[in-house]
Amino acid sequence: MKLIDGKKLSLEIKDEIKIKVAERVMLEKKVPHLAAILVGNDGASQTYVNHKIKSCEYVGFKSTMLRFDEDATEEEVLSAVSQLNNDKGIDGFIVQLPLPKHLNEDKINYAIDPTKDVDGFHPINIGKLTLGLPTYISATPFGIMQMLKRYDIDTEGKHCVIVGRSNIVGRPMSVLMSGNTNPGNATVTLTHSRTKNLAEITKTADILIVALGRAEFIKADMVKEGAVVIDVGITRVKDDSKKSGYALKGDVDFSRVSPKTSFITPVPGGVGPMTVTSLMMNTLQACELKD
Ligand code: NDP
Repeated sequence: MKLIDGKKLSLEIKDEIKIKVAERVMLEKKVPHLAAILVGNDGASQTYVNHKIKSCEYVGFKSTMLRFDEDATEEEVLSAVSQLNNDKGIDGFIVQLPLPKHLNEDKINYAIDPTKDVDGFHPINIGKLTLGLPTYISATPFGIMQMLKRYDIDTEGKHCVIVGRSNIVGRPMSVLMSGNTNPGNATVTLTHSRTKNLAEITKTADILIVALGRAEFIKADMVKEGAVVIDVGITRVKDDSKKSGYALKGDVDFSRVSPKTSFITPVPGGVGPMTVTSLMMNTLQACELKD
């Protein structure tokens, strides 16, 4: 078993970005600038946005955070989106999800200028992804593709089973893995909560990508010997031994599954750090496109 070290890889990629930013500064080119809109007080969302801002600082990007109270109106958030769309200094921005229930996520997402949609959630960017056109690939699937590429994992002709069909992870992942690309060219099965005999299907996976959000759901008897396992799930589980009072668990029962695998991502330290780094890659791309 070989561990896919997302933390180490993300640092390597961030160092590459840092060099590119330093070169831009030397050439007096624009420094990439990422903005984030954060609404409310959700602890996990605040942590994610803080990681994104810290990563910006690390690679040398400018960053801006627009914060709104939990009871912000849709008009206020849409007005912030419009402000960022029109601000020539901002290369890309994200609206941190989930938003409070009274806000219409789709309406806000659709209001983002697709050329600044570095999260890759806008329908135009998802359409381009589906057609195999250049676009911003949403951060988590992009991060997973980078892991497969940089660990030189052969995906061509392999059976890739994806658990979870969300618009931000499972579905775009199925598009990428089935594309005529490398990594890609896999035969893909996309599974979800209505899938029958899930274990029978996961057992046939050469590459198993799991994104359902249930701690340690994938057990050893659901995984084929030698499979590559990518665990996207992050669930907070009560753990009194931790200072925070909780531990982060993946969707895979790591201790029992990992001995059977050829490659596996840990949680934490796997897909999570790569997600933030992919956002940095997309922001650099947004800035370079304006050169
Ligand atoms: P969603 O809740 O949007 O989607 C979960 C998917 O899992 C759905 O398609 C659902 O099916 C499917 N599912 C639920 N139960 C089962 C089951 N018993 N068998 C098979 N499929 C099932 O989740 P996300 O995609 O947003 O996130 C998934 C996990 O990944 C979460 O833990 C999240 O925190 C984590 N995550 C981690 C990221 C990272 O950077 N590491 C980034 C994004 C997410 P159905 O459609 O039928 O309801």
